[in-house]
Amino acid sequence: MNQTISFILDGVEVSAKAGQTILEAADESGIYIPRLCAQKDLEPYGSCRVCTVFVNGRAQTACTQPAAPGIVVENNTDTVLAIRKQIIEMLFVEGNHFCMSCEKSGNCELQAFAYRFGILAPTFPYQFPDREVDASHPDILIDRNRCILCGRCVRSSRDQDGKNIFQFVNRGPHRKVAVNSQVNLADTEMNAADKAVDMCPVGAILRKHVGFKIPIGERLYDHQPIGSDIESKRSLQPTGRTFTVNNK
Ligand code: SF4
Repeated sequence: MNQTISFILDGVEVSAKAGQTILEAADESGIYIPRLCAQKDLEPYGSCRVCTVFVNGRAQTACTQPAAPGIVVENNTDTVLAIRKQIIEMLFVEGNHFCMSCEKSGNCELQAFAYRFGILAPTFPYQFPDREVDASHPDILIDRNRCILCGRCVRSSRDQDGKNIFQFVNRGPHRKVAVNSQVNLADTEMNAADKAVDMCPVGAILRKHVGFKIPIGERLYDHQPIGSDIESKRSLQPTGRTFTVNNK
């Protein structure tokens, strides 16, 4: 049964199909909710918390929370934006992200969020972790210095490529993406055409031999802010309830 429900998101009435998450309904309505671990066609994971919204006053992840009739969802408030900005800052300091020398620069979702949230320099101390680079594979490399543990490669390799190349090992600050050979990527059946390669939002999994094929300045987020593809679909009218957006 194609039941349709409605709820309030950022002061506008939004429709959702039964079973849709808040994130999916927002996307279809042209309201952008930032996300990193969530990706279309991948099972929701709810790990990065960047899509945090307030549902009836309570913090929830929009990628896992089902839309329900009559709920009031706050997405673009100062409080929510401040939470997301801090999460992005923490992701930057927790790894080693040197954008100026990264092949993913301009196509990197983490970098694009730094621009969207106006982050000039993180307010948290850099951790400078000692992380491994696996360049053993002839066509692909993993630079764990840039990994944000979003799990998109894990889910994509398992559900889209049918290979189960990646999984997380260890806990806390020692958590990392491992490969199923337990040794090197070269020992797996990973292929440069695998969808898991394209799923990485940052420069942690990269194809070799194609570096800087598209020049800096001509890449996806050099032209448009992240999320603008969804926001360009927006055609909703406010219900009268509005929020102050202070993107600082
Ligand atoms: S390697 Fe990339 S896709 Fe995989 S968990 Fe790390 S950041 Fe996410």
